[in-house]
Amino acid sequence: MTGSETAATGPRLVDVLVVGGGQAGLAAGYYLRRVRADFVILDAQERPGGAWQHAWPSLRLFSPAQYSSLPGRMMPSPTAGGYPSAADTVNYLTDYEQRYDLPVLRPANVRAVRRNEQRLVVETGTGVWHARVVISATGTWWRPYIPYYPGIGDFQGRQLHTADYHGPEPFHGKDVLIVGGANSAAQILAEVSTVARTTWVTLRPPRLLPDEVDGRALFELATRRHRATLTGQNVSGVGDLGDIVAVPPVRQARDRGVLKAEPMFTRITHQGVAWSDGTTRACDVILWCTGFRPSLGHLAPLRLRGPDGLIPTEGTRALGEPRLHLLGYGDWTGPASATLIGASRTARDAVTEITQQVRAFGRER
Ligand code: FAD
Repeated sequence: MTGSETAATGPRLVDVLVVGGGQAGLAAGYYLRRVRADFVILDAQERPGGAWQHAWPSLRLFSPAQYSSLPGRMMPSPTAGGYPSAADTVNYLTDYEQRYDLPVLRPANVRAVRRNEQRLVVETGTGVWHARVVISATGTWWRPYIPYYPGIGDFQGRQLHTADYHGPEPFHGKDVLIVGGANSAAQILAEVSTVARTTWVTLRPPRLLPDEVDGRALFELATRRHRATLTGQNVSGVGDLGDIVAVPPVRQARDRGVLKAEPMFTRITHQGVAWSDGTTRACDVILWCTGFRPSLGHLAPLRLRGPDGLIPTEGTRALGEPRLHLLGYGDWTGPASATLIGASRTARDAVTEITQQVRAFGRER
């Protein structure tokens, strides 16, 4: 049922409505299909692939294909070898939703989710849906985060975020300041430093994971930690090992001596940045690799956010609205649920719970 949304005359009814057709929404779709649920997936993009279709071309996953797969179907290993690229991931997700005949409607942008007594009311640009349960799986790519620093509006060079980065070509011969201490910053620094003079600035000294630790090990650690917390034990987290996966380009940059970071500056000037001791550095470009925030604007009418901006959950279910589940986003919706391999487990648990919820709603009718 892939295709453009058509204008509706009245609300359409569905048991489960999934907002977002990226990997998290598709993993939910896989399990909903298995239990023969009445469901639809609404996705704002023109094409399949979620955020991956907007990532920079050289981006490589931090795990091999078999550790980057959704339920039911293994991601094929790239013919060129190595870890899959963003384009490989888009191809995989495109094939995945066709193979399982997932009912994705796109482009369909959900503007708001509201309550009524029986159902949740889902408003899109061209019509309204009434759903017994809503799964929100809208990701983070759509809310890039740039921290505020004094003078940020005065800088006369170019500022951009990871989400705007499409490759190193525009930075040839320039002075580029890269901000951020995680994977995006390290991977982008690794390639920009081959064509530009780079300065790397991080809040705390960057910590590369040991070479043998990739997404597989991180997932296994997240799983061990999750099991331990269920039995009240304490196991150290992924963050205790380090922050940056040493994928091959990052290792090469390390071996070239490029991965040396300066502490965070305190203000931005017309020409560059300045530190509290009076040191300044001129640059042409500030590239903010400072992360993303959950894209939850469509849920604002439900007024569920806590002081940290996140929606408190038990498992994937919103504490303040049991008819709403959240998938992806971060560990607060399930361990590693925002990764390809982790999406599967959270989606399975959510659909198990939702199936019971929908049955109970059916009995109440
Ligand atoms: P998305 O891919 O963002 O999909 C959400 C979908 O919802 C999109 O299609 C969007 O258009 C749609 N949507 C949003 N709002 C609405 C709305 N209001 N109405 C309708 N549709 C809407 N994970 C790994 O496992 N391995 C990696 O190597 C890896 N590398 C990463 C590198 C980077 C730079 C980043 C940012 C993330 C990386 N991740 C990685 C994490 C994660 O896998 C990706 O962020 C992934 O895209 C998350 O999938 P998702 O389905 O949760 O969200």
